[in-house]
Amino acid sequence: MKLVLATHNAHKVEELRRILARQLEGIDLVGYDGPEPVEDGETFQENALIKARAANLHTGLPAIADDSGISIPALGGEPGIHSARYAGTRNDRDNYELLLERMRGVSDRAANFMCAAAFVNGDTEHVELGVWPGTVLEEASGTNGFGYDPVFRPEGYKVASAELTADEKNAISHRSRAFAALIPVVRERLGL
Ligand code: IMP
Repeated sequence: MKLVLATHNAHKVEELRRILARQLEGIDLVGYDGPEPVEDGETFQENALIKARAANLHTGLPAIADDSGISIPALGGEPGIHSARYAGTRNDRDNYELLLERMRGVSDRAANFMCAAAFVNGDTEHVELGVWPGTVLEEASGTNGFGYDPVFRPEGYKVASAELTADEKNAISHRSRAFAALIPVVRERLGL
């Protein structure tokens, strides 16, 4: 049984392959290099569904996709769905430096990494949201991961998520939470 993974982000592909490896026995996860849809949804869930629908339509295969970002209550939920292009450059360092700047002097440092994971197979659609709570650090630390990992301290940890190993992060991240909830539904809908 083939399942297409609709993401072009190399770091995410790598993380997802590790996360999904254990859960996807009997499923051949294939990459997607078709046209990318316009992500004009207003929520993580809508954007994940838009990506999964495009991959399903283009390949004819059942498809999964994710949409993720970091949401800061003290900034009204921003950068949220705009996380990847927050600083306007699509550069991870520019993005987290802008976030540190916006959070300078802000005492409520709560942050949530969010990930919507969607499954689309024709008329069958399902989406799950995973949340990873934590706080925004005062300065960047660590070199693992990607995106805002150097400035995010997960709840219950003393270090940035960029200081966790890939396996440590994958065990608890927003992405693994979303896919851990989605995959049983995928298996059930595919009759596995
Ligand atoms: P997406 O590719 O539209 O899902 O955008 C995801 C963006 O959110 C990335 O470019 C990162 O800036 C941020 N992001 C999502 N997940 C993570 C994570 O696990 N660590 C750090 N940054 C993340």
